[in-house]
Amino acid sequence: MGVRVAVNGYGTIGKRVAYAISKQNDMQLIGVSKTKPDYNAILANRQGIPLYVPSEDHIKKFEEFGIKVAGIIEEMIKEADVIVDATPKGVGAKYKVMYEKFGKKAIFQGGEKAEIAEVSFSALCNYREALGKKYVRVVSCNTTALCRIICALRRIGNLKKIRATIVRRGADPHEYKKGPIESLVPDPVSLPSHHALDVKTVIPDVDIVTAAVVVPTTRMHLHIVNVEMTNKVSREELISILNDTPRILLVRWNYGFWSTGNIVEWARDILRPRYDIYEVIVWEESITVDNREVWLMYGVHQEAIVVPENVDAIRAIMKLEDDPIKSIQKTDASLGILKRWSI
Ligand code: NAD
Repeated sequence: MGVRVAVNGYGTIGKRVAYAISKQNDMQLIGVSKTKPDYNAILANRQGIPLYVPSEDHIKKFEEFGIKVAGIIEEMIKEADVIVDATPKGVGAKYKVMYEKFGKKAIFQGGEKAEIAEVSFSALCNYREALGKKYVRVVSCNTTALCRIICALRRIGNLKKIRATIVRRGADPHEYKKGPIESLVPDPVSLPSHHALDVKTVIPDVDIVTAAVVVPTTRMHLHIVNVEMTNKVSREELISILNDTPRILLVRWNYGFWSTGNIVEWARDILRPRYDIYEVIVWEESITVDNREVWLMYGVHQEAIVVPENVDAIRAIMKLEDDPIKSIQKTDASLGILKRWSI
């Protein structure tokens, strides 16, 4: 049956991680938690996922809505070997007290401060550092994408400096109260944005500066990255290494991948659940190499990109697999993560 995993916080990230766990043969989903009796709770019921709530009062409320509840969150924590905490930014830090009390391992998300965990995690970069640890933090969507690209580039040489512009989606599709609606917003206006600092929590010895702008879209982030290598590289070499790196997928602009909107449509057309795009989607035509300098552009599906990393983090923290590549391959096969779009 595998290790017993609970997902605390069944929202954007939590429900996707719960789905991914259900696809693994070395782990089992023992429950998820909800604070509100909404359609997500009803869908969890329908899928037979045990649902836990914060208190006895919540049980009454959920039952009034006709929703079955398995118990309170504390009981779910006690039953689990490891908890994936996908509660909103800052809430995970409060729950850590409960995880500590019951001696449970936990995986936190990028909204929490790095200090919450012993390791900030990116499967391609530092899987082994998380082996057997008690607390691991999967870095945010933007940081996960940057880390994958940086660790791929490191396979062909040393990186002197990285300068990246992050065009961030304003909200997730369901976040109807968030914006901006019209404006482009420097966020923050001073450099670097927090993403550069966050990358250093995974890869400390890297010279990186990031700038970020929030834009009115829900369909993915877009990064424009410029890297100066210490050695000369060729475009062919770079394309070959990106093609050879898991969770990075090259697409061609001139095949209709004109925008993040087209990438989302492609993901719908290949019937990805919820159009989830786990890969960093690199536009092949954007890859430009001039001696030691490299440029590229890629799209990042904020709702999905950290999902495979959470699965690998469970394997690392529970020591289910010592070899990062084996874990990555297992996760990727279970979720249908692609290395070629045109098969
Ligand atoms: P979300 O708001 O969509 O989901 C959070 C869920 O936790 C909701 O279902 C909410 O009801 C529940 N919750 C709130 N308080 C709770 C409590 N006290 N106990 C149990 N459950 C509670 O948030 P999200 O976007 O999934 O973000 C979760 C984490 O993942 C954050 O750290 C965030 O920074 C990170 N993250 C988000 C994204 C993204 O694009 N949405 C990407 C990467 C990482």
